[in-house]
Amino acid sequence: MRRIKITHQNIKKYIAKPHFQVFLASFSVCLLLFFIISKQSGSNIPPRIQDAFDPIISTTNTVKKNIVPKTPINGIFGSMFSNINEYTISVKSGDSIASILSSLDISYNEILDVSKSITSIFNLSDLRPDNDKIIVRVKPATSKDSKPELSSLEIIKSPIYKIVSTKTDTGFKTVESKSSVNTELVRGEGVIEKGASLTQVAVQQGIPYNVIDKFYEIFSFDVDFERDIYPGDKFQIMYEQLYSDNGEYLGSGNVIFASLYLNSRRSEFRLFRYENQKGTVGYYDENGKGASKTLKKTPINGARISSKYGNRKHPVLGYSKAHKGVDFAAPTGTPIPAAGSGKVVFRGWINGYGNYIKIRHNGTYSTAYAHMSRFKSDVKTGTQVKQGQIIGYVGSTGLSTGPHLHYEIIKDGIQVNPLSVKLPSIQNLSGNEIAKFTSVRDKINIQFAVLDKNFSQFATLIDVNAIDSDMLK
Ligand SMILES: [Zn+2]
Repeated sequence: MRRIKITHQNIKKYIAKPHFQVFLASFSVCLLLFFIISKQSGSNIPPRIQDAFDPIISTTNTVKKNIVPKTPINGIFGSMFSNINEYTISVKSGDSIASILSSLDISYNEILDVSKSITSIFNLSDLRPDNDKIIVRVKPATSKDSKPELSSLEIIKSPIYKIVSTKTDTGFKTVESKSSVNTELVRGEGVIEKGASLTQVAVQQGIPYNVIDKFYEIFSFDVDFERDIYPGDKFQIMYEQLYSDNGEYLGSGNVIFASLYLNSRRSEFRLFRYENQKGTVGYYDENGKGASKTLKKTPINGARISSKYGNRKHPVLGYSKAHKGVDFAAPTGTPIPAAGSGKVVFRGWINGYGNYIKIRHNGTYSTAYAHMSRFKSDVKTGTQVKQGQIIGYVGSTGLSTGPHLHYEIIKDGIQVNPLSVKLPSIQNLSGNEIAKFTSVRDKINIQFAVLDKNFSQFATLIDVNAIDSDMLK
């Protein structure tokens, strides 16, 4: 930590130096020019320029500012001399409350008193370097024999959590201050342009990256973003932004609604976030059909298809043979996730396929994975696996010309085209869940409409008073 220490003696010495007097002279000229210019233009001083004239002493991690107390402590004249200095300190490795306060010349007794008070609700060893900030307010020393007096100390753990210790007549009092997280809904939308990806268009709209990732994840069972998106396709999204009580931005929250219109399929996918009565969150279409499917069509997200399902000349055998799966090119060692939950019914070597795993998902569907370089050690014949669990790694074992995953979906014992097969949804809502979902969905639709910048144009068409005020929150 480096800090500039300001004492009356230092200031007197500094003023006496010639370079300061040169500075003072040029500063006065600047000030004069400034007033002439501002008078000529006849306008008020813009606040940003005003800021530049405020004295701020800043070192690498300490910001000091001078605060005039709201109520004069010692009468009119006294208040001029009873200003409080505020220091904002970023905690670095090796810092402690004691080291920070003693560098500000606070007395040993005050350091002890404030530390004792803080310890009643906060463990001082829980100070986190490079995360926590400390704000110290100090009454400057009144004579050269006295010490500065600590008036308050705040440990800022996060934008919504701080510990505040204040000096009172009876000593220091420490309290915790927790802000609630306030949610604001944000609407985003865009049209895919030629040469721009969905990500690029979304970023231009100011949508945060983690919200875009979530958007991809929600649609990953229905849409192959590598191949299905074309210029002219449209997306819409509504997501949460989180703020503390004093309006500080904390980050993005959940994606509440997402829609994707694909010209190639002439269809719009609309998905709504819904938490069921058991507390499980999922995304559902307008009719309460779950977005998650029993199987993923492309187990390795974003991998390039190197060979499709159907007849082709076999690259190793040289003659035409039906290709009963889809090949995804990926580097050797790329992890292979299970396309769906199920039981491993075969793990071993099969001629042609090389290292091969077959998973049975239910009475109808199985999937198979071939040419693996190796298996994941805890996945064996008989192992129950979850969707997305890593089962092995891409390789080029068996009849293969280069590293790739050969992936098959087997329906009732027969290989089908993974890219075109219609797969059942994992969870469809039914019974009273449907009724609850329907009201959530309607509320989301209204919230989304209200966030439209053109909303006021058609707001008169609906009775806004009839909308439950909760809906607009
Ligand atoms: Zn293949």
